[in-house]
Amino acid sequence: MPHRTQSDSRRLLRRLRDSLAEVAEGQKRLDQIVRLIADDMGTDVCSIYLMRDLRTLELCATEGLNPQAVHKTRLRLSEGLVGRVAREARPVNSADAPRERGFRFMPETGEEVYSSFLGVPIQRLGETRGVLVVQSRKGRLYSDDEIYALEVVAMVLAEMGELGAFVGEGEALAAPHKLPVMIRGGVGQEGTAEGQVLLHEPRVVVTNPVADDPVAETARLHEALDRLRGNVEDMLSVVDASQADAAHVKVLETYRMFANSRGWVRRIEEDIARGLSAEAAVEKEQSAVRLRLSRVPDAYLRDRLSDLDDLSNRLLRLLTGQGQTAVGEMPRNPILVARNIGPGELLEYGRKLRGVVLEEGSVGSHAAIVARALAIPLIVHAPRITTEALNGDAIIIDGDNGVVHLRPEESVAAAFRDKMAMQAERQERYRTIRDKPAESRDGVRVSLHMNAGIMADLPSLQDSGAEGVGLFRTELQFLTRRTVPKRSELVTIYGRVLDAAQGLPVVFRTLDIGSDKVVPYMRRPNEPNPAMGWRAIRVGLDRRGILRMQLQALLRAAAGRPLRVMFPFVTEAAEFFEARDRLREEAERERARGLEVPETLHVGAMLETPSLAFASDRFFREVDFISIGGNDLRQFFFAADRENELVRRRYDVLSYSYLSFLRQILARCTANGTPVSFCGEDAGRPLEALCLAAIGFRSLSMRPASVGPIKHLLRRADLGEVRGVVEAAEAAGATSAREALTQWIAK
Ligand code: PEP
Ligand code: MG
Repeated sequence: MPHRTQSDSRRLLRRLRDSLAEVAEGQKRLDQIVRLIADDMGTDVCSIYLMRDLRTLELCATEGLNPQAVHKTRLRLSEGLVGRVAREARPVNSADAPRERGFRFMPETGEEVYSSFLGVPIQRLGETRGVLVVQSRKGRLYSDDEIYALEVVAMVLAEMGELGAFVGEGEALAAPHKLPVMIRGGVGQEGTAEGQVLLHEPRVVVTNPVADDPVAETARLHEALDRLRGNVEDMLSVVDASQADAAHVKVLETYRMFANSRGWVRRIEEDIARGLSAEAAVEKEQSAVRLRLSRVPDAYLRDRLSDLDDLSNRLLRLLTGQGQTAVGEMPRNPILVARNIGPGELLEYGRKLRGVVLEEGSVGSHAAIVARALAIPLIVHAPRITTEALNGDAIIIDGDNGVVHLRPEESVAAAFRDKMAMQAERQERYRTIRDKPAESRDGVRVSLHMNAGIMADLPSLQDSGAEGVGLFRTELQFLTRRTVPKRSELVTIYGRVLDAAQGLPVVFRTLDIGSDKVVPYMRRPNEPNPAMGWRAIRVGLDRRGILRMQLQALLRAAAGRPLRVMFPFVTEAAEFFEARDRLREEAERERARGLEVPETLHVGAMLETPSLAFASDRFFREVDFISIGGNDLRQFFFAADRENELVRRRYDVLSYSYLSFLRQILARCTANGTPVSFCGEDAGRPLEALCLAAIGFRSLSMRPASVGPIKHLLRRADLGEVRGVVEAAEAAGATSAREALTQWIAK
């Protein structure tokens, strides 16, 4: 066999392209392709195997093997050399295939006569679609150039697959991105939705993988690279000016390094020299990066590789002109699919979205906070979703169970619609009790409030039937901006919140930044364990300027109306007293300036660390109210990180150890006459809310969508009876009230 040169592979690609242009129909195309490759490379056999489903490969075309085996021979990914190529996503090159690890003899193909074997994966952007194989009688190893040429051809084939060219005849082989896929992720925010995929970063479709003129393609590449480098420099100069945090600058510096990386550019140039278009060459390199990304265990390296992946996307967009507009046409009922997304970007899509699915993300990320505020379901940690989903694909998300159905079968969709219809029916029922109190059958009234964080939340106040806003998370205005919001802006926002509440109480929580909530314009120390680090009121007391500005904004926004302020993450009574003094001093200053001050000022503390439960009686007497931040309290009580999937569901809030701790807090509040409410996510869950009410909580604050269901439940319950159930199970030695309560509800 002749030694292959770059012009040989170019010739092969050109022949491939010309022949593809001539033959339109699926199977004939595949047959033509294998014939052409075998002829051009001088091999006895060329075969294409395609993925039938996630585990099975099917022989779809062959030159040289028994044609009767086409669409009959199937192998699992765990079988044979072909399976190994697909499984490991890398070439297998053997001079003596039958002796190779994993060889499987397939008598129906008549392949026993062939000694040498070269198989390369057909893959696009890290996703394996099939395997391209050449075989020869003579035992020999294929050269690096031959491997390379076959890989390039495989890449072109993968592109054709993207265009739907590989649909077989008869018992049709489904083209990629046509099959239904179910993906299991984590629950970021409950709720269900059906709609169409809206990719945050639409995939660039390369329509011209083969190019005739490498000189012109190389020039296009360099022109795009120049623009890319210019863009990176622009981004860097902007962040320099706004003193963005170090992490952001680091990412951009990594971009700059890659954009100037000789190795990266050289590999792309080599692909162009072998006959690929500039964009196909960039994508080939990106595929290799994605593959490495999936194999690197080290988090730092993974981050760097995903920076390079992102940079490749930018370069592809520059080369093809695709995806340059920010928010393109939205499909109907858009469900956003992204690898990750910042809170600001998510807010830009706003209320139009029906749901969000993230490949990464986390339950406590900023995006999750925004999704919660927008009251749309969110799924996090959905593996491979950005590879599997295409713009416009049908998608169903079940936020209650963390499941995504992509391109669902009709039966799945129908079952799901039934579930949604039942939910809608229930919502309708909740509307009828909107203006009625949450009063149990035995006459106990529990006041239900809602949690909020952005203006878009406020319409829910009237719709949900909540009696006020029990927790207004003020950090969202800070998290979604690139620079510190001005005091005047905050005055306007807080004023509008109070206007929208129409006299219902709103509890503003001062900035809870730090931990996972990082604002881009504030320098932060590198903390080993940020959840237990410099956050919330600790930052507020140390950085006087920001707290002061926020307190002034709240006082001015109230414009004489009653004002309720609470401080997050109070660990010691002294922190609360100091913060309260600052608020009072500000109010005095405002009065001295002749400005109107609130007619009443209620100052509360969030109880989010066990230590505050043991504060002095003086604290309980002096604080105007306490709000239990169950999300944090729970993580510190159980020493289980609320963000960590490995442990966050491990301990039960309904365990008697936690319930008895909550009872102690209630007892101290009762003894000192301190109003107390519960505002973590658990307050919005049926069993938990019922139990909290039964053990004595008379005020709960939850996400707006939970207010109706919880009110409905409480109105039908006899809380004395529920308390009896909880206590009886405890007396009988149960470790958690969950089982007894579940049985009681079922009855
Ligand atoms: C909590 O910790 O329960 C809480 C309401 O605050 P966040 O979830 O914002 O930390
Ligand atoms: Mg908290």
